[in-house]
Amino acid sequence: MIKILANDGLEAAAVEKLRSKGIGVILDKVDQSQLAGYINSEKIKGLVVRSATKVRKDLIDACPELKLIGRAGVGMDNIDVDYAVSKGIQVVNTPAASSQSVAELVLAHLFCVARCLHDSNRKMPLSGEGQFNDLKKDCSKGFELQGKTLGILGFGRIGQAVAKLAIGLGMKVMPYDPIVKRANLELDLFHLGDTFEIEFDTVPLEDVFAASDFITLHVPMPPDGSPVISDGEFARMKKGVCIINTARGGIVDEQSLLRHLDSGKVAFAGLDVFENEPKPMEVLVKHPKISLSPHIGGSTVEAQERIGEEIADKIISFFS
Ligand code: NAD
Repeated sequence: MIKILANDGLEAAAVEKLRSKGIGVILDKVDQSQLAGYINSEKIKGLVVRSATKVRKDLIDACPELKLIGRAGVGMDNIDVDYAVSKGIQVVNTPAASSQSVAELVLAHLFCVARCLHDSNRKMPLSGEGQFNDLKKDCSKGFELQGKTLGILGFGRIGQAVAKLAIGLGMKVMPYDPIVKRANLELDLFHLGDTFEIEFDTVPLEDVFAASDFITLHVPMPPDGSPVISDGEFARMKKGVCIINTARGGIVDEQSLLRHLDSGKVAFAGLDVFENEPKPMEVLVKHPKISLSPHIGGSTVEAQERIGEEIADKIISFFS
């Protein structure tokens, strides 16, 4: 029997699906230091991880019988992918499974900053009873999203999912992508039981910077690790722009963002990802103009179900 070790856990439905196809699934959490010995002694052929377990060169070298590494999720920073592939190991992940979840979190941050929820959620428990009218006054200068311009940097899976939601809200969407020039966006109209397709062209980056009231980032980390948004880019944006980063910590230069929030050039930010995870800068997490979430963009019940389903299908297809 083929045996899989799901070292960071796996959705129950995925486990069931794999077992129904005769694949043994072990859900033990094996310590990183014991992993190679366990994989070899249990004759594990497939190792499935989330982000906690590291699959580095030394582990790959120590496990010559390993045939497949599965990442239940998107980012593969914890896996030496090229090295594994060079050793004949198949590496699979589930890149599309969490796009809708990330896109919805972007909208959540937009709504938060537009209606001051990030601030009122912090202040209401402390002073909502005694200073209700003061808080009401402070939070009464919110704005609507309808009619505003949303710049989208990176028009891949998540960028397109964000565009669909924003179009539904009546926002003007301006995507930029160095590779994708045009995309077909399929809008689901549930109440009509129908779908509606629109072609969408990307626009030059300068146009996005010049026109956007909000800019959301959906790009990979550049290979050299340099930020995509820093002083030079902020200088080309509108005063009062709002920045949302759910991509990767460091894609927006945090020091530069703080300077521009404090100067008023950037009105608000929404951050799901941080340079120094899991210990983000204190000044960022306490900043009154930032709506925060602890890197949960892709983590919803539905995304986990899709991830489990997709990874199970890929494992079954590989071993059959
Ligand atoms: P994708 O590969 O489908 O799309 C990325 C797009 O960015 C590509 O079309 C590419 O051409 C474009 N791009 C590259 N460099 C660019 C640049 N400098 N400016 C503009 N566009 C550029 O990726 P995706 O699935 O949409 O994921 C996007 C990001 O979201 C990734 O960084 C991923 O790690 C992150 N992500 C975060 C979470 C979370 O939990 N917060 C979950 C999933 C993915």
